[in-house]
Amino acid sequence: MSTIAFIGLGNMGGPMAANLLKAGHAVRGFDLSREAGDRLVGQGGTMAATVAEAVHGAEVVVSMLPAGQHVREVYSGEGGVIGAAAPGALFIDCSTIDVDSARAVAEAAETAGFAMLDAPVSGGVGGAEAGTLTFMVGGPQAALERARPLLEVMGKAVVHAGGPGNGQAAKICNNMILGISMIAVGEAFTLARRLGLSDQALFDISSKASGQCWSLTTYCPVPGPVPTSPANRDYQPGFSAAMMLKDLKLAQEAAARAGAATPLGASAESLYALFVNAGQGGKDFSGIIRMLDGES
Ligand code: NAD
Repeated sequence: MSTIAFIGLGNMGGPMAANLLKAGHAVRGFDLSREAGDRLVGQGGTMAATVAEAVHGAEVVVSMLPAGQHVREVYSGEGGVIGAAAPGALFIDCSTIDVDSARAVAEAAETAGFAMLDAPVSGGVGGAEAGTLTFMVGGPQAALERARPLLEVMGKAVVHAGGPGNGQAAKICNNMILGISMIAVGEAFTLARRLGLSDQALFDISSKASGQCWSLTTYCPVPGPVPTSPANRDYQPGFSAAMMLKDLKLAQEAAARAGAATPLGASAESLYALFVNAGQGGKDFSGIIRMLDGES
């Protein structure tokens, strides 16, 4: 049993912390939201009034925060994790953030004598609740081996992507593929309909042909062919379009700084921005087919 400080108990962090509690760990949380804190206390955890109080004496610090600025502030700001944690504590940031922030915070932690991992996840709220997340981990191998038993409580797959920041790099590259491929599949259904081909016919053929991909066969954006996909429940997420736009923006920022040409990633970002600005950010990202098909 470990004493774990958990910072950021929102849609993802809340259920992740709940799974750590269920596995018998002691969890002391901190969140700006009172409601998030009450939920953790109801599940058997305790809440701290500050970041410093949460991490005091904890063996492991896990964070699940919205963006890079929050992670920088929580770790490196005044009264932050790095200044208040017990010697030898392990830091695991599971937020999806920019690669530069992840590397900067990991370096500050290392300079202060702490091991830190960036460990963003895929699997969404459903995966967080079920404890079936996939963790993409950047940071030292030895730190990953220390973290692994906890990550395996919250997830089903743990993949080491390399040094600090590489977990974030893997996450945004993967989601850039996903954003582009969902638009490709959406455009194909839109064209097929105009050409008199039924959704099911295109699915039956492309799912066995070279157009086969996850966006088609697991997460099909039209109702019918894959009964579990969000298209069958009016595009309730799942993975929201707003979250997809966030990840595509991170990919474009990283591409600009790294000098990588990603023109389809840039187009996908523009199209998701249009969709979100049309008020559809709360819909599942596969709902972009409605915009492509002229429905929204
Ligand atoms: P959320 O907004 O529900 O939760 C974030 C929590 O952080 C909130 O409770 C907020 O009060 C808290 N917070 C913000 N600033 C804080 C601070 N300075 N100190 C303490 N607490 C603070 O967001 P979420 O959906 O849980 O997402 C968290 C992260 O996980 C994001 O980086 C997101 O991109 C990533 N992610 C989300 C999903 C998803 O499906 N929701 C999937 C994969 C990854």
